[in-house]
Amino acid sequence: MKLRVDEDICIGCGACQAICPEVFDVDGVAKVVVDEISEEVKDDAIDAMEGCPVAAIVEEKEEEK
Ligand code: SF4
Repeated sequence: MKLRVDEDICIGCGACQAICPEVFDVDGVAKVVVDEISEEVKDDAIDAMEGCPVAAIVEEKEEEK
C-alpha cells in the first residue's frame, strides 16, 4: 500500500502525524516519509487517512502510475 498527500489540499493541521508518525511528517504541509506502508503501521495510516479533515491523504494505486 502506498499513500501520498495532496499538498494543494493539506492544511498542515498535524493530525496525521499525531496518529501515525511512522508514516507522516508535517512541516508546513504533510509528507509521506515511507515508500511502502508496512503491515505494522497500516491500520494507523488508514486511521490518519480517514481522519484527515480535508481528505488530502490518498491511496496511490499501482495502476494509476
Ligand atoms: S491530517 Fe490532512 S490536512 Fe492535516 S496535516 Fe495531515 S494531510 Fe494535512
